[in-house]
Amino acid sequence: MSSKISLLPDHVANQIAAGEVIQRPASVVKELLENAVDAKASTIQLIIKNAGKTLVQVIDDGEGMSNVDLRLAFERHATSKINLAEDLFGLTTKGFRGEALASIAAIAHVETYTRTNKEEVSHSLKIEGSKVVDQSISTMPQGTSISVKSLFYNIPARRNFLKSDQVELRHVIDEFHRVVLAHPGIKFLFFNNENELFDLPISGLKQRISTIFGTKWDTQLIPVKEKTSLADIKGFVVKPDFANKTRGKQFFFVNDRFIKSPFLHHAVNAAFEGLLRPGYQPGYFLYLQVDPKSIDINIHPTKTEVKFEEEQNLYAILRAAVKHSLGIFQVMPTLDFEQNSFLEVPYAFKEKSAVIPPIEIDSNFNPFKNDSNSNSSSFSTGNDAQREELYSGIQQKEISSLNLSQESLMEISESPKVFQLFSKYIVCTLKTHMLVIDQRRAHQRVLYERFLNAITNKKGISQQLLFPMELKLNAQQLNQFEYVEAALEILGFQLTLIKEKTLVIKGAPDHCPASKIEGVIETLLSESEAESSSEHFSHADQVAKTMAKSLAIKAGKYMDVKEQQALLDDFFGCKETSVSPFNRQIFITLEKKEIEQKLN
Ligand code: ADP
Ligand code: MG
Repeated sequence: MSSKISLLPDHVANQIAAGEVIQRPASVVKELLENAVDAKASTIQLIIKNAGKTLVQVIDDGEGMSNVDLRLAFERHATSKINLAEDLFGLTTKGFRGEALASIAAIAHVETYTRTNKEEVSHSLKIEGSKVVDQSISTMPQGTSISVKSLFYNIPARRNFLKSDQVELRHVIDEFHRVVLAHPGIKFLFFNNENELFDLPISGLKQRISTIFGTKWDTQLIPVKEKTSLADIKGFVVKPDFANKTRGKQFFFVNDRFIKSPFLHHAVNAAFEGLLRPGYQPGYFLYLQVDPKSIDINIHPTKTEVKFEEEQNLYAILRAAVKHSLGIFQVMPTLDFEQNSFLEVPYAFKEKSAVIPPIEIDSNFNPFKNDSNSNSSSFSTGNDAQREELYSGIQQKEISSLNLSQESLMEISESPKVFQLFSKYIVCTLKTHMLVIDQRRAHQRVLYERFLNAITNKKGISQQLLFPMELKLNAQQLNQFEYVEAALEILGFQLTLIKEKTLVIKGAPDHCPASKIEGVIETLLSESEAESSSEHFSHADQVAKTMAKSLAIKAGKYMDVKEQQALLDDFFGCKETSVSPFNRQIFITLEKKEIEQKLN
C-alpha cells in the first residue's frame, strides 16, 4: 500500500526552519555574532554590504572548527553546545538549537573558512541552497570567517519583503548593540559598505555604553547593583532628566543574553514612578545573572524571550534595586561609582569666592527644614513646654526616615523618662517599649546635621576667642587647608595663615569649646586628606563629619538628666535617626513583649 505521508527533503525542511529563524539580514548578523561569541573569540569583525542584503560576513579569532565539524555545522540540529535534554537547563552559550547555520545555508550562498589551533591549515566550505558546491584547504589565521551572500536568493517573496537599506541597517545595528552590550570584554569592529560604523575596544560596561551611544552618556547613567540569592543585578539606569520619549535605550540581559521582558520592564517602570514626565520612557542597561536552571529560554525560536521561575520575586528585587539607585542619586546627584569626582549637592560647597550665590537645595532633601532649634546648644536645658513643642513638631513632620514609629513618638511626647546607663547609653522608656541610645553616636548625628546645615545654609555662628591661638602646619596640612578653609570659615572659624606655615585662630564656632579647637583643626587637616582619596564626599560633608567626631561626647562621660533630655531633644529633631554619620546603628528598641517573654 502506498503511503501519502513522506518525509520532507532536508533542504525543504531547512527552508521552512529558516522562515522562523531568519527574517532579515539582522537575523543573520545576530546568529553569526553569537556563534563567534560562543567560540570564545576576543576580536569579532562584522562586515556588511547594502545593509546585509548583499553580504553579511563575521570574522572571529575564536576556537574554529575541524574539517568534520565544519561539515556537521551546516546539518540541522547539529550543535556542539548541548548533548542531553537536561543540558537545556544549564545553558551558558547563546546557541543550542543547532539550526541557524543550516537555515542560513538553505536560503543564501555561504562561504566559510575556519581553523583550530591544532591545525596547520584552514578548511573552507561553500554551500548554496543547502548544497555543498566547493570544499578546499587554505591558509587562514585561527578562527572562523563566515560570509553570507545573496540572502533569500531562492525565496523571492522574502527578498521583496525586505525594507529599504536604511531600515534594514537600523535592524542590523540594533542586533549589533544587543550583542556588544552583553560582551564589553570582546573587541568589536563593524563596517557597512566599507565604512567603519563602530570600533569598540575591550572596556568596562560604562565605557562601552558611552562608546556606542556617545560620550555624553557618561554623565547620564546611574549605577545599579544588587546581589541576592535569586539574581545578581548590575548595570545602569539613565537619569530621569535624560529620559526619551522612545523606547530606544532599554536593555535587559539575562546571563549575558539580550532578552525582551515586558514584566521586567514593568518593574523598572514602577521604580521610576513619579520621576518621569508623562510620555517619557525610562532608559536602562540592566544585567541579571541567574541560575541557568531557573530560566527557560527555549520558548522562542529567536530566543529573546525568557521564562523565569520566580517571576514575582525577581520583579520585586529589580524594582527595589532600581529604586534604591535612583534614591541614592536623588540625595547625591554626582555620586558615580566609576568616577572620581564626587558628591556636591545638597550639601554642596563648591564656591570659594567672596560672594557666594545661594546654593539650590531641593526642599525634599533638606534635612533641616523643620529644625528651628539647630543653633541652640545641645545641652541647653530648655523647659518642658519647649520640649513638648519640639516633640509635637516631630509628630507632624514626615517621619518615614526617622525609623521611629509614630506611636513611639506620641509616647515620647507624653512622658519621656530618661536615664543614663553605664555612662554610655541613654535609656528612654515608653509605654510599650524602651529605646537604648548610644550617647556618642546620637550626639555625632546631632552635631553632624547641625554643622552640615550651618555650612550649607551659611549660618555658622562665630565666637571670638579671648586669646588667639597659633598652630604650626606641616606641608600636607597646609595643602589640605586650602580645600577646607572656606567651609571652616562659614562654620565660624576665624583663621589667618601667617609666616607661611602658621595658622592663627581668632574665633571658633559657638559649639566648639576652646580646649577642643586645636585638636579639631588638626584632625580636619589630616583626616580630609585621607578621606578625599577614598571616600567621595564633598568638603562640607567631610568637615561636618570630622567636627562631629571630634566634638561629640565620648562613651564613659557622665551626663545629668538635663543633659540627657537635651540630647534626646536634639536627636529626635534629626532628619535621620537610625545611623550615625559613620553608618553605625544609634539605638536599639526593647519591646515590652520581649521583656515579658524573657521573664515568662
Ligand atoms: P548552535 O549555535 O545553536 O549550536 P549553529 O547552527 O549556530 O547552532 O552552529 C552549529 C555549530 O557550528 C555550533 O554548535 C558550533 O559548534 C559550530 N560553529 C558555528 N559557528 C562557529 C564559529 N564562529 N566558530 C566555531 N564554531 C562555530
Ligand atoms: Mg548559533
